[in-house]
Amino acid sequence: MIKFTRKCFHIKTSLFHRNLTTQTGRKKLVILGTGWGGYSLLRNIDKKVFDVVVISPRNYFLFTPLLASTTVGTLEFRSIIEPVRNVRFRQTADFHLSYATKVDRDNKVLHCESVLQPGLGYTLNYDKLVLAVGARSNTFNVPGVEEHAFFLKDIPDARKIRNRIIQNIELSLHPGLDENERKRLLNFVIVGGGPTGVEFGAELYDWIEQDVARVYHQRKDQVHVTLVESNQILSSFDERLRHFAEKKIKERDRFKLVKSSVTRVTSDCVKLSNGEDLPCGLVVWSTGLSPTQFVKSLDVQKNKSGQILTDKYLHVIGDTTDSVYALGDCADIKDNSLPCIAQVAERQGEYVANLLCGKADKEFTFQSKGMLAYVGHYQGVSDIPNMKMQGITSWFLWRSAYLTKLGSWRLRMQVPMDWTKAILFGRDISRFD
Ligand SMILES: Cc1cc2nc3c(=O)[nH]c(=O)nc-3n(C[C@H](O)[C@H](O)[C@H](O)COP(=O)(O)OP(=O)(O)OC[C@H]3O[C@@H](n4cnc5c(N)ncnc54)[C@H](O)[C@@H]3O)c2cc1C
Repeated sequence: MIKFTRKCFHIKTSLFHRNLTTQTGRKKLVILGTGWGGYSLLRNIDKKVFDVVVISPRNYFLFTPLLASTTVGTLEFRSIIEPVRNVRFRQTADFHLSYATKVDRDNKVLHCESVLQPGLGYTLNYDKLVLAVGARSNTFNVPGVEEHAFFLKDIPDARKIRNRIIQNIELSLHPGLDENERKRLLNFVIVGGGPTGVEFGAELYDWIEQDVARVYHQRKDQVHVTLVESNQILSSFDERLRHFAEKKIKERDRFKLVKSSVTRVTSDCVKLSNGEDLPCGLVVWSTGLSPTQFVKSLDVQKNKSGQILTDKYLHVIGDTTDSVYALGDCADIKDNSLPCIAQVAERQGEYVANLLCGKADKEFTFQSKGMLAYVGHYQGVSDIPNMKMQGITSWFLWRSAYLTKLGSWRLRMQVPMDWTKAILFGRDISRFD
């Protein structure tokens, strides 16, 4: 009797599982990732056509262009993230806080593991699968980076940086501390002069000028920042804008721009190829991208940087089942490489949503809307098609553009409130883990 009941139960669950597709008449789309690409796909896909399941190790969308502002408290962490469950799911269990670990393409089965309970693995079947898992920071195998440097990719990274900055400045005030150690704690090194490195430097500069000067006034002259870049800073920007940014950074007291590459990072020092040693209390590493462990493990065609190669419809090359797509930072279109930026990933998410629902049949095309970067002290650079701007107008454009791009009205309210609070009351320097 017991045996019979169990068997019945088993048959019932598997029938129920199959019935989901047949009864609803919808196919099952599984999206991996809740970043720019995955979130855009989720928001744009017609849920009358697909049953959508999302797998991601984080249950929020992060507005990355403003992440640097959270490292010093210009903005608060929760002001730039949007819970993905706010995009309504048909079934509550259609979002899983998990990692995808393996894809069995022949049987259209995805292997996942829970983030909340490591070791809790399970499988899911799919009709269509979209890989939008992003990329990780590239350490270029420089010794010590993985162990000692901080990255700036997600909220937990920004939290760690903010804590380290506050911890160092507080520790530097302790009596009995060796003078060299005090200096080291207040030396901050940024490796990589791309937009992320430059914007983090800009936020640090504002914090030193406004908040260190306010609450740690006797330490203001002792905080030093070094930006290390082996080529040019903001290399993807127009030459005139690059020079403007470089000039602004070089003009700043206690700011140094060093043209060199890093050969080693230790717990208290950055060693450069020009022989110089930079003793420091914080290293933020921001030098390009490399594939995640999951992407490395996939048995698909990849480019030299390890990105998944797709055709012009973002369909993974060599996928004979016609069901796997890849987009954003983890993917590269064969013979039409695009930059790894939010604009591309967002547009690709929208494109795949339309393609899968039969609303698009042409190949993917991308028209850049331009690039913006903040360089500190209310100065910005804007490299927009047919318009190059620098200075305060560009800073204003930077703030307004991001404000309108924020994904929800809640964020559009929170961000200006944080900006106003920072101006009126200063940034929050409380330390807690
Ligand atoms: C600090 C910073 C500032 C930036 N500023 C700008 C800017 O101003 N303008 C601009 O255009 N671009 C900017 N970018 C770049 C932009 O954020 C990326 O190009 C964009 O995030 C790529 O989108 P994506 O969807 O491919 O990946 P991501 O947004 O990185 O999302 C990847 C998602 O996949 C999830 N994931 C990872 N592994 C797995 C797995 N195994 N299974 C399931 N899910 C997984 C992750 O948790 C995440 O949710 C910035 C990036 C950073 C870090």
